[in-house]
Amino acid sequence: MQVTKGVTCPFCGVTCDDLEIHVEDGQIREVKNACVLGRDTFLHHLKGLATPRIDGKPASVDACIDAAADILARARYPLIYGLDSTELHAQRKAIELADLIGANIDHTSSICHAPSLQAVQTVGLPTCTMGEVKNRADLVIFWGCNPAEAHPRHATRFSVTPKGMFTPQGRKDRTIIHVDVRKTPSTRMADAFIQIKPHSDYEIFSVLTALVKGHDLDLSEVGGVPMEEWRRLVSLMKDADYGILHWGMGLTMTRGKYLNIVAALRLCQELHRFTKFQGAPLRGHGNVVGMAQVLTWQTGFPFAVNLSRGYPRFNPGEFSVADLLARGEVDAALVIGADAVGNVPKQAAEHIKSIPLICVDPKESETTRVAKIVIPAAQAAVAAAGVAYRMDHIPLPMKKVVDSPYPSDREILDRIIAGVSARRPELVRRMRPAASAGA
Ligand code: SF4
Repeated sequence: MQVTKGVTCPFCGVTCDDLEIHVEDGQIREVKNACVLGRDTFLHHLKGLATPRIDGKPASVDACIDAAADILARARYPLIYGLDSTELHAQRKAIELADLIGANIDHTSSICHAPSLQAVQTVGLPTCTMGEVKNRADLVIFWGCNPAEAHPRHATRFSVTPKGMFTPQGRKDRTIIHVDVRKTPSTRMADAFIQIKPHSDYEIFSVLTALVKGHDLDLSEVGGVPMEEWRRLVSLMKDADYGILHWGMGLTMTRGKYLNIVAALRLCQELHRFTKFQGAPLRGHGNVVGMAQVLTWQTGFPFAVNLSRGYPRFNPGEFSVADLLARGEVDAALVIGADAVGNVPKQAAEHIKSIPLICVDPKESETTRVAKIVIPAAQAAVAAAGVAYRMDHIPLPMKKVVDSPYPSDREILDRIIAGVSARRPELVRRMRPAASAGA
């Protein structure tokens, strides 16, 4: 039995790096320390594996890669999308390919936490690591998120029960507040639940900020909650030694979108006049933060980047995946480690089904089922090593615990780049030397 310790789980943004995996005869037999989602990721990694094929007919991986390079070399306005379930080096390769072929490149954040990324670029992010949350936070607010179901070990490793340097009694040293439009399993972790009206978040954050600033507002309620309750929350926030506001898609995907997050972050900034108060989104996929990091350091922008002019342009709504597809603009798509057809709105899904679609994924999905070319990959963090960014922007190594008959995403992308370069050498000459060296 081969036992590997300190294994990183790729399933969600908590990116737990303390898993212990037992492997015998090339099979994963036991997974220790993981939640049920993490255990499933490793124990059932062979379930629903994709097979290499072109136009629905079995083909070799080499033939699939060759056909993919052919499509991308001829495309006039291609899209590269997905990339949140893979590792950092593959993400870098995808950006290099996008630069080479002048593609639009976008990732799953575009349809979940893009408003958070836009807000951070607008007002900045007063934030901290999850280690600081564990060691210091005595007030934790979960707003529009449900970590009990989406991030099962967040509470036990960082935000609710663990004992930290300045929170030696763990749960007893923390006050937990849950704000949402309805109760969820996360409500049970909280000392208090504040039920608000849907779409009232912006208004509430604005009022809370005014109260923090000392304004006396002549209102009886905001967001369906009496002002007395908001005044109590403001007192709690000002009196905390160290506060953290965690938010989820209940803020990013409701009316106000990125302005909700701007208002939330301004509240955190205002609270810094009285105490330490941070904000941090709870991010979903394992390496969704990594893709935004890599894209930002390579192009200056976190999502929805267009490279068709040989330099990066950023315009959500124009270059974001759902809009490009809904307008029927892209003429070929490469989807890596994501279920684009299952993710995007119906009209966008219809277009992606109508163009040459290449899908690189370890598993079958709605996207592989309609793709022209399917290239199975070794699953990152299970059968391929690499790096992932945790939701608090901490990079962690991903280990390989079993072998796969298929190449990694990084290798596949490398070979597609070589195939496109051989077909279109003028594209290689056009690329800026710094970009090709950096990527
Ligand atoms: S909390 Fe997330 S990262 Fe941690 S074991 Fe569960 S699924 Fe994996």
